[in-house]
Amino acid sequence: MEPVVVVGAGIAGVACAAELVRAQVPVRVVDRGRRMGGRLASRRLADRPVDLGASYLTATQDGDFAKVVDRWRTRGLAFPWTDTFLALDAGADGGPSAEVKTGPVRWGATGGLRSLVEALAGTAGVTVEEGAVSSVTATTDGLDVDGAAAPAVVLAMPDEQAARLLGDGLTQHREQLTRPSEPILALAAWWASRTWDGVVAPGVFHGAFVNGDDDLSWIADDGRRRGDDAAVLVAHSTPALAAAHLEDPESAGPAMLAALQRLLRIEDEPAGTYVQRWSLARPTGERDDPYLLTESGLGVCGDGWGGPPKVETAWTSGRDLGRALAARLA
Ligand SMILES: Cc1cc2nc3c(=O)[nH]c(=O)nc-3n(C[C@H](O)[C@H](O)[C@H](O)COP(=O)(O)OP(=O)(O)OC[C@H]3O[C@@H](n4cnc5c(N)ncnc54)[C@H](O)[C@@H]3O)c2cc1C
Repeated sequence: MEPVVVVGAGIAGVACAAELVRAQVPVRVVDRGRRMGGRLASRRLADRPVDLGASYLTATQDGDFAKVVDRWRTRGLAFPWTDTFLALDAGADGGPSAEVKTGPVRWGATGGLRSLVEALAGTAGVTVEEGAVSSVTATTDGLDVDGAAAPAVVLAMPDEQAARLLGDGLTQHREQLTRPSEPILALAAWWASRTWDGVVAPGVFHGAFVNGDDDLSWIADDGRRRGDDAAVLVAHSTPALAAAHLEDPESAGPAMLAALQRLLRIEDEPAGTYVQRWSLARPTGERDDPYLLTESGLGVCGDGWGGPPKVETAWTSGRDLGRALAARLA
């Protein structure tokens, strides 16, 4: 049998491929990025990995993903970071005010979140080829990916990216791939020393949801979530700011940095900054279906399928599609 082609090596694509490997179905995984991980993206800045995509993982208690996360914890790859953030109100007058918010345990990764996707692939024996797929079509014999025959093809990516790849014989499925995503810019900024602990609220700073600010929606302390206490912060823009700066993300840097310094009362200038663009950061709206799998063997999975758009949802969607395909093909 020709291999099933999985396009996209974010956590959904790798989870899907892992199930196929387990069922001894031949599989080829292709991603246009130089490294796997997709939106679980860590980049080396200030001599250490900084998470520029997802901020953390959460796992439903006693669920299947919690077991995977626990195995990463046992191997020293992931650790329970915190269950407590601040809610910062940007406050037009009198400066920002802070409220403590407790929620589920958020998990961080010592080597950056991308390392967890690499661990998932490594454990399952999944390898990833670098390459951008441009078209998937249906032929009389099955499916075809850029000229190569495949018994099934999985597009493990947001709807907009998947819909663009559908060619002859598959264009009717574009109607099922209409869930839009909103953009976010991530600003990483690093300093010589930490000055923000205990400043806006007593105790150690881990992160803050930002309310009522035109530019920022969230601030994460990358030193805390990495466990090395480095003086590195990552701030996420509002979708509106990102939409206005998608062509030139660096141009949003000064406004994002000014908001970050104002909110955390940081007077020093940073030693360095970096802006990452996510044109399709997070699916909007809802969809209950756990994945798409057509009679012709076209599969689509990722964080736009099933629960709220997050890492656990993407893993579950990929894993479940992999199982369904394995049951069909093995
Ligand atoms: C800024 C930001 C903050 C977030 N914060 C959190 C958080 O705190 N907690 C949380 O749980 N989730 C968070 N998320 C969401 C989380 O990152 C995603 O839910 C999850 O990573 C999605 O994984 P995926 O495999 O579905 O998609 P992706 O990770 O997007 O993977 C898709 C892959 O497909 C590849 N690809 C696309 N088109 C092609 C092509 N034509 N050819 C080859 N390869 C292709 C891409 O390169 C990519 O690697 C955040 C996301 C962003 C961007």
